[in-house]
Order: sequence, then C-alpha cells, then structure tokens
Amino acid sequence: MRKKIVAANWKMNLTLADGAFLVNEILTAATAVTTLKQVVIATPFVHLTQTAAQLEGFGNIHLGAQNCSSEKSGAYTGEVSAAMLIDAGVQYVIVGHSERRGYFNEDSAMLAKKVNQCLETGLQVIFCCGEPLEIRDAETQNAFVAKQIAEGLFHLTAEQLQNVTIAYEPIWAIGTGRTATTEQAQSIHAYIRNVIAGQYGNDAAANIAILYGGSCNPTNAAELFACPDVDGGLIGGASLKADQFLSIIAAMINS
Ligand code: PEP
Repeated sequence: MRKKIVAANWKMNLTLADGAFLVNEILTAATAVTTLKQVVIATPFVHLTQTAAQLEGFGNIHLGAQNCSSEKSGAYTGEVSAAMLIDAGVQYVIVGHSERRGYFNEDSAMLAKKVNQCLETGLQVIFCCGEPLEIRDAETQNAFVAKQIAEGLFHLTAEQLQNVTIAYEPIWAIGTGRTATTEQAQSIHAYIRNVIAGQYGNDAAANIAILYGGSCNPTNAAELFACPDVDGGLIGGASLKADQFLSIIAAMINS
C-alpha cells in the first residue's frame, strides 16, 4: 500500500524561535500519524538540528530539507551535502522545486545528480514537477511534466524509485491562492502514475506517492486528497500556521 504524506515546505521563512514554536504546536496536536500516513517538515538548513531534536520520539513525523548539493563533498562554497543532511537527522529532501529550477537555474541534469546523491546516502526524495501557466494554457502540461520526470528520475532502478515521492506542483498555483481544480489534479496525477507504469510497471506505479502542491489549504485539502491519485500534499504558505497545517494533516489522515 502506498503512503500518504503531508509535507511542509517552510521555504525561507521563520526565525529559529518561531520555528521551534511552530513545531511544538504541531507536535502537541498531531497524534494520529501512522507509518502509512506521515508528516514531513522541511525547514531551512539552519533549523534542521533544532527541529530534529524536537521530532525525536515522533516516529512518523519526519524532518525534511529543501535542497541538497549535487556533489558529494569538497570545494563547493555555500553547499550542503546529502551526508551532512543525514548527520543532521534529515530523512526527506525536496528536489527540483520550481523555485530552485526557476531562480537558481537547476536543470534536469543537475536534479538527476541531486536525486542520486540523496538516494545513495539513504535519504528519501520528494521530486517536484509542474508546468508554468503558458504550458497549462496551451494544454501541453502532460508532455511537459512527463519530460521532467523522465529526465530527473528514469535513470533510477525500480528499487531506487521506492525511495522517491513525486510532488506535482503547477507553478501557476504556487503561492498564488489559485488552486488546481480536483479534476485538473486527479487528471494529471493519474497521468503521472501512467508515466511511472510505462517505465517501471504497474506495481511501482501503484506504490509511488504523488503529492499535490499549489495553494493547498484547510478549505480545499479534503477535496484534493479525496482524489484517488492524490496521495497528500506539499504545503507552502499554509504550513507556516499551526492551525492551518494541522487541519491539512487531519484531511490527509481522514482521506
Ligand atoms: C510550495 O512551494 O511547494 C507550495 C505548494 O507553496 P504554496 O502552498 O504556498 O502554494
């Protein structure tokens, strides 16, 4: 059975004190998570060890990072390696977020290397894909997303793919307050599962979790997570407020 996951992406927000407060609020209320229904909190790098200490003993609430170097170690000023993330207590890494692709020119070749670094080191990958508005308007989003997935993931073995979660995040919905409709989300999630089936077979496709991201909030989460191919969400803005994030977690648990 595939997992359901709600993952918080804090992006470049929160002081250490604010982060500690938020995690504390989440831990006080998030009791119903299980092996198959998990929570990930992806903090900025400097929060990681603090959050790791807070999450100790909460087996199904995992620590995530928002990025990882494509290189193993060495003279790469400003970079953070997969091994350092493991050392800090990280279990999941977001790779290929559209903000990294867009603002930091991370192309498919680099993302494939990042995926490799994570998997070789024992980290789970949340691999992001998703189209800009002009591609959606031209109705070519399926081919666009299939190419991102093929270039970022298809060099992996089926065994390696078991440690990958996909996050479909239409760029036009990220931080905009405009959410994909449930029909749009279900349609492209089912398509992504087919793309995985074509490369890795039906079992791999049935087992991979595909999260939706893009202005997911307490009002739309339940409806989105009720779609048969939507296995939870990657949450930006709404993950910064404990009450909102907890209500999204509850929607995932009840889905
Ligand atoms: C994200 O950045 O991954 C995201 C989904 O952001 P938001 O929820 O704010 O749209």
